[in-house]
Amino acid sequence: MGDSYRLPRIVLEASSSKTWDAAISEWHVTGCRDNGDASGDCLCGHEGIRYEFTIKNSVNGNELSPIGSTCILKFENDELKNEVEGWRAAIKLLEALEARRPDVRLDGMNRDLFSRCLYAFLYEKGAFPPNRYNGYDGRNDYEFMVDMFNKRTAPTEKQRAKMYMVLNKSIFPWLVLFGRELREMRL
Ligand SMILES: [Zn+2]
Repeated sequence: MGDSYRLPRIVLEASSSKTWDAAISEWHVTGCRDNGDASGDCLCGHEGIRYEFTIKNSVNGNELSPIGSTCILKFENDELKNEVEGWRAAIKLLEALEARRPDVRLDGMNRDLFSRCLYAFLYEKGAFPPNRYNGYDGRNDYEFMVDMFNKRTAPTEKQRAKMYMVLNKSIFPWLVLFGRELREMRL
């Protein structure tokens, strides 16, 4: 990052810590907006971003927005990287869900679309609500889906049926709302 790259300076100035490593660890991704046509400008001056991320400082409450996902990845902070990857994976799954292409599997196992990172993101964001099928604890569904994803053998019919239900009754409806939230602020 050269002197002309101003985003690190902006982040540092809005942080409580004054060293980069400590400062960057204060920040978390709290939101994202889809402007629909790559018409956004990142705080760094980078033009043409479509997904405008917001990061928030957990120490002083400062917010910075809009920031492009590739710019956040340049901070080289693992936690922020995971957060951005979670958002990106959820957006990718949402787009696949909306496209409804018959050749794209939305079965919870397709490694092009599903990952442990995505499931962790979905769980953290509340995509596994409590209901009578999971004993009123969404964590059971989250752990079940990760177990199935990690399995080396094919799921049984019963497991398949349960995955289908978690996908269609919890994850996909949540994603539709997530998509509405991403886009509702479009001008
Ligand atoms: Zn940028």
